[in-house]
Amino acid sequence: MGIDSKEKLLLGAHMLIADGLSNSIEKGEELGCTTIQIFTKSARQWKGRALELEKIKEFKEKHKKSFIGPIAAHASYLLNIGSPNEATQHRSIAALADELSRCDQLGIDFLVLHPGSALDNSQEECIKTITHSINQVFDSIETKTKLLLETTAGQGTNVGHTFEQLAAIIKNIHDKSRIGVCLDTCHIYSAGYDISTPKAYEEVWAKFDKIIGHKYLNLIHLNDSATKLGSKKDRHAHIGEGEIGLEGFRLLINDPKLVNIPKVLETPKGIIEDAANLTTLVNLVDTKNKELVLNTPLKKYLKN
Ligand SMILES: [Zn+2]
Ligand SMILES: [Zn+2]
Repeated sequence: MGIDSKEKLLLGAHMLIADGLSNSIEKGEELGCTTIQIFTKSARQWKGRALELEKIKEFKEKHKKSFIGPIAAHASYLLNIGSPNEATQHRSIAALADELSRCDQLGIDFLVLHPGSALDNSQEECIKTITHSINQVFDSIETKTKLLLETTAGQGTNVGHTFEQLAAIIKNIHDKSRIGVCLDTCHIYSAGYDISTPKAYEEVWAKFDKIIGHKYLNLIHLNDSATKLGSKKDRHAHIGEGEIGLEGFRLLINDPKLVNIPKVLETPKGIIEDAANLTTLVNLVDTKNKELVLNTPLKKYLKN
């Protein structure tokens, strides 16, 4: 299976929205991104101010005119739709519906969610609560935006650190056309899935396909891991500077089955750092796949 020459590398970074939502698109363009991720409001807020029609229009128009393809949003870290505390669960359900609706208004393709934390409950019960919550949200609101469950590192009582757990959530979602997965390279590595050598890399993807199914993969977070394989810690490192190393990212960026999957950096922040990480990634693209980069503004990062 080769890479179709008309395809292009979908690569970008998480963009800050401090200067306004549509500014994230300009920033993304300056950086040469072909995909970006944003928060549609402060990540530390339960509910954002309602979006003004003008702002929505501006965002959509800028997106349309830009070279940026799919846009993802990341849900607030406060949400725990798997909480054993009913009040928190209900508050999280309402907040998730609000986040999905904001994304839908902005024409955002994906909303990334950390599945939830079991706290003093069992992981099995937590998975049931998560599934129930998602079904409730989907029943309450109709959106085109897909909800993506993110693979987690398994820190604390976080659920979603095994492919089996994510598959168990998806299994009981009534409308499966609205659910997908965001794979975070740092998180899966910390959770014990080694992608740093060709053999291990292939085995992890074979597992993913068998347990979850490739069709559910919609987004990849590209982060190296500052901590060891199976450490269960969520510490992002710059590409090639962590435990995964350049080889793992070279395999990923040249993998034909992942060409159409948008890939977003969530490495420690800064425009210079983002550009440095994009430079690293773009120069890992094999000569035979160079077309993928040459079709995009990312070509400015190519060293030869
Ligand atoms: Zn992530
Ligand atoms: Zn993380």
